[in-house]
Amino acid sequence: MQQPTHGSAAHQRVQEWIRKSPLRITKARSAVASVLLRQTEPISAEVVFRQLIEDDKNISLGSVYRILKQMEDEGLVLRDRHVTSGGIKAIYSIQSDTAHNRKYVFRCDVCGRQQRIADAVLAGQLANVAALESFDLPEEILIPARCRGCNPA
Ligand SMILES: [Zn+2]
Repeated sequence: MQQPTHGSAAHQRVQEWIRKSPLRITKARSAVASVLLRQTEPISAEVVFRQLIEDDKNISLGSVYRILKQMEDEGLVLRDRHVTSGGIKAIYSIQSDTAHNRKYVFRCDVCGRQQRIADAVLAGQLANVAALESFDLPEEILIPARCRGCNPA
């Protein structure tokens, strides 16, 4: 199978790891990875678990812990410690390493005026989703739009 040549190395390793698993485990791993890939900040296992419930994924908290531990052992997630009033909590993240170089640009479909979007969070999330879905993004992404000048309210 053809691998994307300039996607995020970390995300490609996550996908490979998911592909190697038996189908039942694949689904759980892929659901947990998909929650982590959406985040812009490290999150705890409980937060992963809550988001899985929102996603209608039926995965126990125990499985979430197990999968996070496996991902950590494989070097796919970073585990950090977060100090709260209730004690020290482990928080997890997948590092995004390609989002920063990419340009997202609105382009007016009438006059062609362009406006670069300066939103690192949005850029990071788009890059993460693309990596998870096995899409390779170009360096510059043009988003068709209509500027105010061409579309007066
Ligand atoms: Zn315009």
